[in-house]
Amino acid sequence: MTRRDLLRNGGLALASFGVGGCAKFAPRHAARRGGAPAEAIRAPRMPINLAPVNASWDRVIRTTIGLRPHRDSGFVLRADKLDDKLLVHNYGHGGAGMSLAWGCGSMVADFAMQQSERRVAVLGCGSPGLTAARQLQRRGFQVTIYAMSIPPDTTSNMSLAGYTPVSGLVSPDKRTPAWDAQFREAAEISYRQLQLMVGAGYGVYWQDAYSATDNPNGGGGGGGGNNEGTGDLLPEHLRGPQNREVLGPGEHPFPSQYAIRRTNLRIEPSIYLEALVRDVWRNGGRIEIRKFVTPRDLMSLAEPVIVNCTGLGSKSLFNDDELVPVKGQLTVLVPQSEVTYSASGRPPGMPAPPPGAPGGGGGGGFNPNNATMNARSDGLVIGNMMERGNWSLDINEEVRKRVVDAAVKFFSAMQAAKPDLPLTRAEAPASPPRVDSFFDLES
Ligand SMILES: Cc1cc2nc3c(=O)[nH]c(=O)nc-3n(C[C@H](O)[C@H](O)[C@H](O)COP(=O)(O)OP(=O)(O)OC[C@H]3O[C@@H](n4cnc5c(N)ncnc54)[C@H](O)[C@@H]3O)c2cc1C
Repeated sequence: MTRRDLLRNGGLALASFGVGGCAKFAPRHAARRGGAPAEAIRAPRMPINLAPVNASWDRVIRTTIGLRPHRDSGFVLRADKLDDKLLVHNYGHGGAGMSLAWGCGSMVADFAMQQSERRVAVLGCGSPGLTAARQLQRRGFQVTIYAMSIPPDTTSNMSLAGYTPVSGLVSPDKRTPAWDAQFREAAEISYRQLQLMVGAGYGVYWQDAYSATDNPNGGGGGGGGNNEGTGDLLPEHLRGPQNREVLGPGEHPFPSQYAIRRTNLRIEPSIYLEALVRDVWRNGGRIEIRKFVTPRDLMSLAEPVIVNCTGLGSKSLFNDDELVPVKGQLTVLVPQSEVTYSASGRPPGMPAPPPGAPGGGGGGGFNPNNATMNARSDGLVIGNMMERGNWSLDINEEVRKRVVDAAVKFFSAMQAAKPDLPLTRAEAPASPPRVDSFFDLES
């Protein structure tokens, strides 16, 4: 690799700006985010000084399971007739239902506006159901949510919940131009809405994600793993500047040559979903616990408009055979309020994956041997898995052991924080990364 290559990829770190060596630093986010020209990256930066993660088996506090509602041809967002009622479907968001929900909800409301009556039944109380309810309330609808389970007992509560709009969402060969247009609109509306919700009230915040790597040209998926395989939702020439910054040897505390830092938008599901429930109530909405078995059951509802946000429930309720669960499993360590970032990387001694394999720099999906950590106020979330077709809600002990062992190994090899320097904390970016710079994240 030439020096010019290094500069282009942000590898200027190889110059003499090691931790603690400089009196003046460029402000965070000033230079190398969003594909800044090479000249702009010459200024030294604040040294990265991260609070260590205390990963050990005795700090494991829970393991959660969730089934992502996946369809190879992507989410369903369309209006049908059910006798004299308008039935709007909004389900099948795979690993992107926290990310796309506000935008899909807005398009649901567009469909519902075609009906003159302003009473609507929303089926389902996860992220797609609650956000659709709010978008409908904003347009003047009187909303009742019917669901057999509500937060904290929904798939949405089991989510890693980053802004990962393409994660586990669609097979590239099954996309259509009409679906692409809906996806794009959903991603943009949702991104904007989530930005407006940043703060403790909704549990939405910007977070730095570090991806420890020996390959400075890798995807840099941070704590969620990277997903170069579905980055083709947009053709190359339409993709935005990359939301990544390469830190070189001596510039970061991880057991790797480089660390790729990017800015992510994250959601704390338990805070966020409870806040949405409160918002629905405050705006005159009602929530009723109820299970529907066949579409005929819906005829007993008084509302002339029904919005179906039942996720995987649509498989039996509406006979959608394309729906398939993609099992996820998260293990949570004792919270550490000083850890405010996410990180991922290969534990020392673990062989590098072959080129083209997950995590190998060219393939999509998770590298199952990597350690991952996402900091939340309810714990440090480690590991993840994607197992297609598995309906079991039982903990996979082998995966749990692997992810905890990987985290213990990786984080015990991380350098300690420098006591004489302030800890590096994520800041809101001066201008948010473009929406398409998130189209490579998997969760
Ligand atoms: C481990 C993991 C990590 C994830 N990470 C991310 C991420 O980083 N970013 C992201 O955007 N997404 C992520 N997801 C995906 C996201 O969580 C899902 O896309 C989303 O939660 C799906 O929402 P849903 O409404 O379809 O399902 P749910 O949240 O389960 O809601 C479905 C609702 O419908 C109700 N219901 C179902 N059937 C019936 C019926 N017959 N009668 C009455 N009510 C019914 C349920 O009770 C529930 O209220 C992740 C998921 C997992 C499991």
